[in-house]
Amino acid sequence: MSDKESYIIVSMSPLPESFMKALFAPYSSQLDKPIEVIAVSPKDSMEKIKEALEKADVVIGDYSFSLPITAEMCEYMKNVRLIAQPSTGYDHIDIEACAKKGIPVANVGEANAVSVAEYTIMTAIALLRRLIKAHLDVSEGKWSQWELMELGTYDLYGKTWGIIGFGRIGREVAKRLRGFDVKILYYDKYRLPEEKEAELGVKYAPLPKLLKLSDIVSIHVPLTSETEKMIGEKELRLMKPTAILINPSRGEIVDEEALARALSEGWIMGAAVDVYSVEPPGTDHPLIKLKNVNIIRTPHIAGATTDARSRIIMTTIENVVRVLKGEPPINVVNM
Ligand code: NAD
Repeated sequence: MSDKESYIIVSMSPLPESFMKALFAPYSSQLDKPIEVIAVSPKDSMEKIKEALEKADVVIGDYSFSLPITAEMCEYMKNVRLIAQPSTGYDHIDIEACAKKGIPVANVGEANAVSVAEYTIMTAIALLRRLIKAHLDVSEGKWSQWELMELGTYDLYGKTWGIIGFGRIGREVAKRLRGFDVKILYYDKYRLPEEKEAELGVKYAPLPKLLKLSDIVSIHVPLTSETEKMIGEKELRLMKPTAILINPSRGEIVDEEALARALSEGWIMGAAVDVYSVEPPGTDHPLIKLKNVNIIRTPHIAGATTDARSRIIMTTIENVVRVLKGEPPINVVNM
């Protein structure tokens, strides 16, 4: 750690310096030096950001993903011992450049996995029941009871659920689905041993097979060069016309134009979209323009419940304090 009079934390998240200082105040007795917080934002010049990063002991990343951490910025981080990202996703950080400089990047581990899993199951049932249409119709004085029956509404019971990406969130989804009596398939880069699959009540399926057999498909892979546009026209056309797709992962993983066509032309029955390749997506985005389809659109809130946000803040702060005390960080994603 540097021999300065205080520990310097550079915060890229849009929170006031005074609030950040207050969050760290209860931990001051555990440290040998006071903490100073410098907040930077995308509005600041690179010169100002450079000056702050050169002094930093720890960097807290931007939870709104507006300020990327580039290879150039890593070069300025002479004393940085940790980049603590207060979210699960970290695709705005050049983690390889950080690793080359010996800087660990940590996310918040499983702090909001349960929240995303609950969102996923909530939206699946709402889509199967066409809940948004039912609510809007009745609110507008339209009694669409027969229309909904004719369109088809479905139970979750007895269906096949395909989970793409069987990490923390994927497993929380599987755990929560047990009481619903569904068959669970999963696809992941890494297959689990068969005993583990049996213990978790899931079966492995290659992606095309999972897409063909599932009534509900939910996406829980991170955004990487391998997962970008992992679900495109070819994959959507493999799905059943009664199937639904839930994407609370990252917008770029799905070809959004193809998904818009899949919904408007009836290749699939519905979709829930929490994330977009551009956020906010704007009114001319293909998924925002869609009318009269079974879609649930939310503004990247699957993992941002009030409960999850307090777990995220505590996980981030405790990780920073751990490193300032000279202990190794947890939830490191690049080393
Ligand atoms: P995780 O790292 O625990 O799990 C990801 C899984 O994906 C791993 O099992 C990994 O092996 C698998 N995977 C990676 N690349 C793959 C590939 N090319 N093919 C198949 N499988 C692959 O991550 P997690 O905590 O479960 O989170 C998953 C993603 O959810 C995050 O990266 C983030 O983008 C997103 N997320 C969104 C929100 C939200 O609010 N919408 C909140 C939290 C997380």
